[in-house]
Order: sequence, then C-alpha cells, then structure tokens
Amino acid sequence: MTISTEMSENRQRKASKYAATRRTLFFVNSGLGLAALLLVLFSGFSLEIRKLIESWNNNQWLVVLLYMILMGGAYAILTFPLNLYSSLYLPRKYGLSHQTLGGWLIDVFKGAVIGGIIGLFLISLLYLGLRSLPEWWWLAGGIFYLFFVIIMSNLAPVIIMPLFNKFIPLENDELRERMLRLADKTGARVKGIYTMDFSRRTSASNAFVTGVGNTRRIVLGDTLTQHFTPDEIEVVMAHELGHHVHGDIWRGIFFDAIITMVGLFIANLLLQNTLGAFGFREIGDVAAFPLLALVLTGFGLFTNPITNAYSRSREKAADYYALDITENVASFITCMKKLANQNLAEVNPPGWAIWLFYTHPPISERVRLGENYARKQGLNPYPDSGYPQGESGSN
Ligand SMILES: [Zn+2]
Repeated sequence: MTISTEMSENRQRKASKYAATRRTLFFVNSGLGLAALLLVLFSGFSLEIRKLIESWNNNQWLVVLLYMILMGGAYAILTFPLNLYSSLYLPRKYGLSHQTLGGWLIDVFKGAVIGGIIGLFLISLLYLGLRSLPEWWWLAGGIFYLFFVIIMSNLAPVIIMPLFNKFIPLENDELRERMLRLADKTGARVKGIYTMDFSRRTSASNAFVTGVGNTRRIVLGDTLTQHFTPDEIEVVMAHELGHHVHGDIWRGIFFDAIITMVGLFIANLLLQNTLGAFGFREIGDVAAFPLLALVLTGFGLFTNPITNAYSRSREKAADYYALDITENVASFITCMKKLANQNLAEVNPPGWAIWLFYTHPPISERVRLGENYARKQGLNPYPDSGYPQGESGSN
C-alpha cells in the first residue's frame, strides 16, 4: 500500500462525513450519560438501590462496591450497542479498522476487567475520603490523584499497554541508528524506541511518547514505520523528542491534577449544599454518587476545551521543535498529508469542533506552520513540485 501525499477531494469528503458521524455519536453518548444520571438521581432510584444493598449488609466498603458494580454494569449493558457501533462497525465501515467482532470483544473484556479493578479501587478510596474527611476530601483526593497518575504513568507502558499490544524495540538497524543519532542531537534521555503492532487492529498511523522515569519511551506505530519514508519517520520522531525535551508528559500530569482538584473542590461545594434536598445522609452516602458524577461530568465538558487548547499549544511547540532540528520542511508536510489520508483525518474541521475535540492542531494548520517556517528560513517546502505555483501538483 502506498499512501498519497496529495489531498484528494474524495478522500476529504469521506473524512468530513466520518468526523461528523463521530461528533454526533459523541453528543448522543454524552446525552445518554447525562440523562441516565439525572434519571437515577431525580427518580429516587439511586437511593432505593443503596437501601436495598444495605438491607443485605451494612459494611460501607461493600455497599460502595456493590452499588458501583450494579449501576456501572447496568450502564455498560445499556450502552453496549452504541459502543459496538462507534468503536467497531463505524471505523470498519470507513476502512480504518479490520478488527473482528471476536477480537473487539476480547479487547472490551480486558478493558472492562482492568478498568473495573482500577475504577473500583479509586472509588473505594474516594468514599473512604468522603466518609473520613467530609470537609477536606477534595484536597486529599486531588493530592492522591496526582501521585496515582505519576505511578500509573510509570507502570502503564510496562504493565498495562502490553496487555493490548506488542511492543518491540525498533528492529530496523538503519532506521534505529538514525533515530538514535537524532535523539543524541537533542540531548533527550530516551530509554527506548519501540514499534507497536497498530496494524493488528487498524490501518491508521500514530506515534507517541509515554512513560515517566525509567519507563519513558517513544513508540512508533508499525503502520508508520512500514508506509513512511525514513525522512518522514525522522520528522515524526523529532516531534516526539520535542515532547520529551519540553517535559510535556510532566506538564500534562500537573495540568490534569490541577484541573481535577478544582473539579473536586467545586463538586464539594455543590454537594454540601444540595445533599439534603435529595434525602442523602451525608457527602459519603454512595446514593449521592449520580450527583457527584453529574457535577464532575459537567465540569469536564466545561474544561475540555481548555485542556484541548493547552494540548494543541504543546503539539504546536513539538512541531516547531521537529522543524528546527530536522530542517526538513518538505518531509514534515508530506508526512502530515500522508497522515491525513491514512487516518482519514478532516483537514479543515469546523472551528467549534477544533475547540471541543482537537488535542492536536488540524492538519491544515500544521501544514501552514511548515510553510510559514519554510518562508522564514528561506527553505523550499515543495522541492518536487515547483512551489509555489504547483502545490497541488505533479507527483
Ligand atoms: Zn505530539
């Protein structure tokens, strides 16, 4: 398979349709979640479930666990068809996924077990905090969350991610040498360059930095290493090194922890003032969970654009960094266009969609960044096409 470096109108029409469908699904999904929370809260159902569990046993740890398993399980079953459609059938319909139903079900099962264990552990601790520090739980929770995320960021690349994908140290000697040379040039102390079997599930490409401390590494999708030229891979690698050099994983962790603590603080204020109206005993009453979830979901919807804007600014800095250390604008631009074609990315999404969903600048902006960089440095971003006349050009 060769991936075109030119944007075809047809492919972009398809990309826009795919993006629009996914946005609709996001709104349907969020609407369903909010409706479910409002329903169990205002109907008194949440209170009834807690009373029912307490009629069997009175251990508060167990009450919290059983409540979460019942409510979470019911919600997972109710939203299963939507989940199946949006994460399997839709990407398959657009040729992005080639996963089988069986393979997808195994992923869902693994994700539910791991997510369930981690989620139940965190929620049990949250309720311990709510019961024992009813005034200060949000502060304790925020600090605990920070340490938890740091530990998970260290462990995830070696414990959790390998449960879903195979990670192999980059094997291609020539490419590896080149990548190590580039890493040396930046002074980034990367602990490893890995390839990941993206191709098992998808035809899309990606690369990312992950891990903190002794597990920090750069991961390149095999869909990238197989279909991109060494020059283009080097640009991608340089972008990821930019994240390393800028300390973006740490920045992200602290940014996330601050936002989370603010969210918990607001949730505390709102909960303390509305508990009585719903007949909840105290802030640590698990029946009030839908209220807490509503506040945090609302807060998340409100802060998502801020988090996304922050992420886009970090991505832009990494793009600049990649251009600076490679000075290969031409490969940066062909790489972006290939990514758009391969991943069926909408090149020019509507502004509100960027604001609401985009953690990276859209491709059109990234290409423009490359062109502006070239202009400033007096480089030719389209050496093969007689730029600027023949941009949509020849090969
Ligand atoms: Zn990035």
